[in-house]
Amino acid sequence: MTKRAPVPSSRPPQRHRTVQEYEHDTYKLKGKLKEPAVCPQCGAVFHKGRWTWVSKPAQAHGAVCPACHRIADKYPKGMLTLNGPYFVARREEILNLARNEEAKEKKEHPLARLMAIEERPEGTVILTTDSHLPRRIGEALHHAYDGEFAFHYDEGEQFVRATWSR
Ligand SMILES: [Zn+2]
Repeated sequence: MTKRAPVPSSRPPQRHRTVQEYEHDTYKLKGKLKEPAVCPQCGAVFHKGRWTWVSKPAQAHGAVCPACHRIADKYPKGMLTLNGPYFVARREEILNLARNEEAKEKKEHPLARLMAIEERPEGTVILTTDSHLPRRIGEALHHAYDGEFAFHYDEGEQFVRATWSR
């Protein structure tokens, strides 16, 4: 079982929060992964049913992890849109906070990564390889800067769309 990191106490209490366990991302997985396996691209190790950053075991099979597959295919599992005049004025600082949140999340969950940061008409869009990071970053921004934060999961929770604006 994977436990979620503690959530900031300042999050809005009115929002119902369902417990989201980290599911094993099976993107592009052909059959059952043999263990231990190591991703030749990022070095993540598949062990006891999950991807971790343990050191590479001897005799590990090579298997590209779902996050590296998604990055290569540009096939995100979540997105966070950032916009508003306050954001534009402090863009770099805010994106740094987003990168720091990614670094913390990725330590525990190797498949949670920033895939791309794109400029679109609706704002700056952060694409992620997992469906937890957009919410984690959005909540951190809300905690640090207030503003408006919202997210929703698509049907089946296969994709999350989040927005933070100020
Ligand atoms: Zn990988």
